[in-house]
Amino acid sequence: MGLYNLRRSLFLVILVSTLFMSLTVTIEPAEHVYAYFHSKLGLEYYALNDAVLGLLLAFGLMLFGALIQLNTARKKELSSISERSALKALLDSLPIAISKLDKKHQLTLTNPRFEKIRHAIGEEAVANTAKTLLETGLTKKNQHSLELKQSYPQLNNTSEILIEWNLCQGDEDSYLMQGRDITQLEESYRQSHIAQQIINNTPVGVMVVNTNQEIEYVNRSFELITGYSTSDVKGQSPSILKSGYHGKDFYKAMNKTLIKEGMWQGEIRNRRKNGDIFLEWLSISSLKDAQGHITHSIGMFSEITAQEHVREKLHTLAYYDSLTSLANRTLFNDRLERLIKNNSKRTLCVVFIDLDDFKRINDSLGHDIGDQLLVTFAKRLQYSIRGSDTVARWGGDEFIIAIEVSESFEGISHFCNKQLQLLKAPFNLNGRELNVTASIGVSIYGEDAQTASDLIRNADIAMYQAKRQGKNRYEVFSSKLHKDISENIEIENRLRLAIRKQQIDVHFQPQVRTNKKHIIGFEALARWTDEELGNVSPQKFITVAENTGLIGDLSALILNKALEQFKPFHDADTNLLLSVNLSASQLQDDDLIPLLKKKISLYGIRPQQVKLEITEDIFISKIEKSIGITSELKKIGFKISLDDFGTGYSSLSYLKDFDIDELKIDRSFVINIEKSERNKAIITAMLVMAEILSIDCIVEGVETEKQLIELKSMGCNLYQGYFFYKPMPCNELELLFEQDLLLGVE
Ligand code: C2E
Ligand code: MG
Ligand code: MG
Repeated sequence: MGLYNLRRSLFLVILVSTLFMSLTVTIEPAEHVYAYFHSKLGLEYYALNDAVLGLLLAFGLMLFGALIQLNTARKKELSSISERSALKALLDSLPIAISKLDKKHQLTLTNPRFEKIRHAIGEEAVANTAKTLLETGLTKKNQHSLELKQSYPQLNNTSEILIEWNLCQGDEDSYLMQGRDITQLEESYRQSHIAQQIINNTPVGVMVVNTNQEIEYVNRSFELITGYSTSDVKGQSPSILKSGYHGKDFYKAMNKTLIKEGMWQGEIRNRRKNGDIFLEWLSISSLKDAQGHITHSIGMFSEITAQEHVREKLHTLAYYDSLTSLANRTLFNDRLERLIKNNSKRTLCVVFIDLDDFKRINDSLGHDIGDQLLVTFAKRLQYSIRGSDTVARWGGDEFIIAIEVSESFEGISHFCNKQLQLLKAPFNLNGRELNVTASIGVSIYGEDAQTASDLIRNADIAMYQAKRQGKNRYEVFSSKLHKDISENIEIENRLRLAIRKQQIDVHFQPQVRTNKKHIIGFEALARWTDEELGNVSPQKFITVAENTGLIGDLSALILNKALEQFKPFHDADTNLLLSVNLSASQLQDDDLIPLLKKKISLYGIRPQQVKLEITEDIFISKIEKSIGITSELKKIGFKISLDDFGTGYSSLSYLKDFDIDELKIDRSFVINIEKSERNKAIITAMLVMAEILSIDCIVEGVETEKQLIELKSMGCNLYQGYFFYKPMPCNELELLFEQDLLLGVE
């Protein structure tokens, strides 16, 4: 029976009893009760009345006490009910699974969370776990609770569920078994552990800064890169890393972007703990809380100092010459374009400088010395120009300068002379003194050149002209010069083709003794009639061939044709001589002797019947080599004639070194011989010298009888000239044969 019902019954009993008592004293039947007590006990009415009243009062008080007690019990019962329901609600709402195991290890109480787990992993799994927990855990002495992590396959799911169990001793051999699904917790722990590992092992430096600008966290890479440990920087401002390299504006702009866009990234130079400055690629991003307020900023950076070095290296490789460290072509072109665009009031000039005979230095002294020369020369050049000018190595021994001068021609001449002067001081290379000259070409921005490429090309042309004019000088580009050079370029191209097609012919000009009747031999002279260019003079195309490296192939072709055509004459008359011209460069070429040997043996020609005409140019360079090759040729049996004598670099002292057979007096001394006493005197001196040296002396370019008479009177007896014969093709020579004019030596 409930407490409420008990209370109601008691109340009814009291009510009925009270009514009964009252009635007993006031109403009729009470009279009988009084009569009874009066007769039996001798009680008076008033005494009986008092006794009844007393009884009633005592009974009432008793009832009242019982009522109060009942009320208190009721209240207690009510509070216990609400506590229990609160406890139940609590149990129901707890995120932990709770169950009670009784003495027999049966589950007597479970909360919904527990049921959920039971539902997920199954009755059997729960029972097994309870068993395991009880067996392993609480059998041990003094053990009141036990924790266990257990993984289960979920019944309605393919995934696993991880539960953390806790068993503790309850009252009277009961146990409380708690379970917590920690699958997600474990996963997020695992993930945060991985994230932590990543952050700690990434080569990227990480720094977390709070809104008070205090560093809260740095990772290992931060420590490695900056040299600061976590304890060094924790609580410090990130400005501890400032290098002083960037101004306030830099940081202002950084903050502005950070606030506006939530992130900033770029290159920044910071300072390590040891004071070294390093370059890093930094990216900063803001971290916001759920309300969108910035709580932290995270800086992540990688050191790119090495990349910067690579970048600088690549830049240097791309724009600078590795040997001299001067600008290279690319950079020069770039700067020249910029100077043109700047359109300064001053005159823009391009100066092309080419060292004279650098190849000779390189070949004879070795490439190391050659390189040293280039480096030293580059330094001299650099010192000689202003900061606003640009000097570059164009390639090989070619250097190029872009300058702006105030008064064009005076300025240019001053500058070029200064450059030539620079070279006056000898170069001291590896303890060896070297005198070097250069040829300079200048082009001026304006009429002849409007673009950078025109300017460079014109300066190159002018330099080329300076070389032709004898080197160690400068030339300023002009349109006329351009025409000549363009012509030479055309000649070169056509000549290359002509050599390949063997279109170069050979004519022969007889040389005579005393008079026309005594032909002693003939000079082979190259002839070229081009389809497009027409007749090109040998002087022109041979010079082009010399300057473009075509001379080797050309000479081989001419020699071949000359010897082939000379062969019948050679066989018919063993005294007849064939004169072949050699260019100065050929006489320094190691291939010359093998070439000559090969050709004469090919046609079966005696070297004694071949006269090699060399010019005085050989005295200008590589004199020792020329002397060596000449004496080699002599040893083989060839005859040597010094052609165009008196026009070149006639150092008479060289004559004693060169074992020559003949001097060939140049035509220029013959032209005015009748009128020029001076020329007569020179020719006389040459004749005397030849006689003293016991060598022949032939005069070339004899055109008139008068000249012949004059020359004869002076003691000449060998001639070559139009007066006797013009150069002619081989078939015409054969006609001479037929006319029996070839008389040979007297
Ligand atoms: P060079 O060796 O002094 O040849 C003589 C030049 O004088 C030839 O000119 C010849 O035609 C010219 N000549 C001869 N007699 C007279 C004359 O009475 N009056 C005039 N006005 N000229 C006369 P060419 O054939 O034009 O050759 C010019 C130069 O070209 C040659 O001068 C020679 O240095 C060079 N040359 C010609 N053929 C060859 C060759 O096969 N190899 C080399 N390396 N040089 C050659
Ligand atoms: Mg000649
Ligand atoms: Mg000559």
